[in-house]
Amino acid sequence: MEINKEKLGNKRQDYLSWDEFFMSIAKLAGARSKDPSTQVGACIVDENNRVLAIGYNGTPNNFNDDEFPWDRDGEDLETKYLYVCHAERNAIANGNRLSLKGARIYVDLFPCNECAKEIIQFGIKEVIYLSDKYANSKETVASKYLFDKSNVTYRQLEKEHQKTLKLSIKPDVPVTYLDD
Ligand SMILES: [Zn+2]
Repeated sequence: MEINKEKLGNKRQDYLSWDEFFMSIAKLAGARSKDPSTQVGACIVDENNRVLAIGYNGTPNNFNDDEFPWDRDGEDLETKYLYVCHAERNAIANGNRLSLKGARIYVDLFPCNECAKEIIQFGIKEVIYLSDKYANSKETVASKYLFDKSNVTYRQLEKEHQKTLKLSIKPDVPVTYLDD
């Protein structure tokens, strides 16, 4: 059977690329965070573009987030930094039933050195990030050194893919792109 060629290939053109899709998932995961100053999400994907795991920055399991020191400033033991679990670590923990070997991770902020070590040890091979706003911090410098030495590649999502989506969770309202 032959189908009239004019009937073929009339697909929608403004669909999300895989990179855009997975970074959107990472961002959406970050919206679950209760951290008042920084919301980070991560999405781990295998070579076949299947989502393996998702995470966001938050409290350790069973740690009541109403009793968590969310502040950024103050005595070390009274701020979040020593206690919070980063998005990448949570995504890796959430994926613990699966092999993450050869996977890639989408995260909206460049991973710190502690997360970099987890990413490396679990066999994740590529990091795709949006923001590198702490590029000069020792954590980020160390993170890049770890990735370089351990053959984990990293790249920023290209500017042309950094879109603004308007996502509605109401029926029959499609996703729209605000900056097209
Ligand atoms: Zn981290």
